[in-house]
Amino acid sequence: MVTEELQRLWRLHDLDERAAVLRAGLAKYPVQKRDLETKVNAAREQLAAHARAAEEQLKARRKLEQEIEAVTTQQRQFESRQPLVKTNDEFRALSHEIDGCKARRSELETQVLMRFDEEERLALRKPGMDRQLQSAEAERATRLLAIEAEESGARGELAGIESERAAELTDLPPITRQRYERIHASRDGRAVVPIVKNACGGCYRGQPPQMLQEIRRGERVLVCDGCGRILVRPPGEA
Ligand SMILES: [Zn+2]
Repeated sequence: MVTEELQRLWRLHDLDERAAVLRAGLAKYPVQKRDLETKVNAAREQLAAHARAAEEQLKARRKLEQEIEAVTTQQRQFESRQPLVKTNDEFRALSHEIDGCKARRSELETQVLMRFDEEERLALRKPGMDRQLQSAEAERATRLLAIEAEESGARGELAGIESERAAELTDLPPITRQRYERIHASRDGRAVVPIVKNACGGCYRGQPPQMLQEIRRGERVLVCDGCGRILVRPPGEA
């Protein structure tokens, strides 16, 4: 024999369990949203780092090109002085300077070519990074819509459960109701637990035989000494 009060408590147990599952689900959505945001930010940061590297390459190449111009100007100055010299020694000295300029310029030009190669390699990597950002942004857009739909579905379901719970509560005797609400507030929304293998389904404390008998008779609302939750024998269990 199970009293109406205990049946009502068991229904509250069901509603609370469903609410707990929904709340756990709702807690996951902010994490999922953050993950999507992190992916987009990582793709953006990758592109920003790439842009900085390209900028560095360009600056280094410009500097080399300026050096080439300076060496060329210097070489022309030496060459223009050559027809004006009076001695072979002076002529040879100028020739030596001119050769030095040519060697330096050739070396700088090789470095410029290497920079061009590096710039090309960098440029080839950019389209892939652009695509990564695009796909991260697209994923975020579609997933956010799905998450928001799931979220509002869960919120709606939770609101439904809350109103069912409120209706069950109004019909509960005041003393039981107060007890239920106090435990509900202090035990993560789980105030009613089943007896599982002669123990409390909330804290797993074994229950004394007399208590088990009383619960089996289902005539009184009993509370676990360990966790304070209301103990109920699941309906249909012998
Ligand atoms: Zn307990």
